[in-house]
Amino acid sequence: MFNDLRGKRVLITGSTMGIGLAAAHAFARYGARVGLNGRRAPHDLDTQLDALRAAGGEAAFFAADLSHSEACKQLVADFVRHFGGIDVLINNAGGLVARRPLAEIDDAFFDAVNDLNMRSALMCTQAALPHLKASAAARGETASVISVGSIAGHTGGGPGASLYGASKAWLHNIQKNWVDYHTTDRIRFNIVSPGTVDTAFHADKNAETRQRISAAIPLGRFGTPEEMAPAFLFFASHACSGYVTGQILDINGGQFMP
Ligand code: NAP
Repeated sequence: MFNDLRGKRVLITGSTMGIGLAAAHAFARYGARVGLNGRRAPHDLDTQLDALRAAGGEAAFFAADLSHSEACKQLVADFVRHFGGIDVLINNAGGLVARRPLAEIDDAFFDAVNDLNMRSALMCTQAALPHLKASAAARGETASVISVGSIAGHTGGGPGASLYGASKAWLHNIQKNWVDYHTTDRIRFNIVSPGTVDTAFHADKNAETRQRISAAIPLGRFGTPEEMAPAFLFFASHACSGYVTGQILDINGGQFMP
């Protein structure tokens, strides 16, 4: 079904674990060439790269702290130097940074949350655009930018997550402008918007809290990173979604219905 992903060059930011790593494995199974990224190499990097290659893909790791614009540009340049171009960019790096109620938000925290969730996606997209445009022209099909939004971008976020929720809502919104002004370059923009997914993101929650959250989800449990992965394949595949752009796909077990 996703056979046109074979050989595609896919850069996934924030992908040394969690949702990004599961997506990387899904792309590798379809023969894609995948760039992993994190601030630092994980302790099991060689094992992960071997597993991606054994699954049928090519893989390389690029260290970069994407809270900084220069690092975003460098990451894209390094990926292009390694793979010769970009066909798919996945803006996945993101997170809470910490939970802070309104009264405890200062300038440094404001910058940290927005740099991680907004600046990273904006600057990686900006740097990747010429390469995506070139990919679309050379292949005669669309290239794809997939950003990772959040249920929090719809609801406003949980306790202490107001800036995080707002930064994801910003991503949900800015994509509309990108669609309006970059579709002529044959680039599609879509968002995967997870609900509550069992990753390190929720490491601060005890069993009781997890139980309470699960009870509020119609499907009765957290999602898994692997359950997010097919949505990335769908949006990346021109054959499957060549006429789909500007959309937000919510994957949340029914926890929120826009
Ligand atoms: P995760 O398991 O915590 O993984 C985060 C990844 O991002 C790691 O590879 C981490 O590696 C990397 N990273 C963190 N800061 C970075 C930076 N400044 N520059 C580059 N890479 C960085 O997270 P996840 O739960 O998979 O979340 C992935 C995306 O889904 C995020 O955008 C998150 O907001 C979104 N999301 C998650 C959930 C959920 O329930 N899990 C729900 C909605 C949305 P290093 O630590 O080495 O940098």
